[in-house]
Amino acid sequence: MSDEQLTASFNLSEFLTSPGAAYYYQTLPINIQHQVFTNISNLAHRLQAVRDILACPITITSGLRTKEHNAVLHGAVSDSTHLDGRGADWVISEEYINKARVLLNNWSGGYHWYPEDRHFHTDTRDGKFRW
Ligand SMILES: [Zn+2]
Repeated sequence: MSDEQLTASFNLSEFLTSPGAAYYYQTLPINIQHQVFTNISNLAHRLQAVRDILACPITITSGLRTKEHNAVLHGAVSDSTHLDGRGADWVISEEYINKARVLLNNWSGGYHWYPEDRHFHTDTRDGKFRW
């Protein structure tokens, strides 16, 4: 699969690193793949804006997920936004975390900070969703 640059800082492949995700994406029916690509691209653009404000690299730890992989993750919900590319988990350098948390209070969509392993979840669902 040829990689695709989505924004100045994000490539498509960064959102396809979860187990089975790249194959899953590649083998989706073309119309669904197009929608998933649009979802990932929209999220990447939103994350690029965050990255630009924070001025620090963002490392995607989990983007698109297969149903099978999502099902075995502790605490993951069955209708996860990871399943259609709207959601991603990511980490940043410790020194930027507080600034990021303040900024993300205004995130439109779903946002949660996981203090246990210090990762962020953001997604582009409609409305402002927190848990
Ligand atoms: Zn997540």
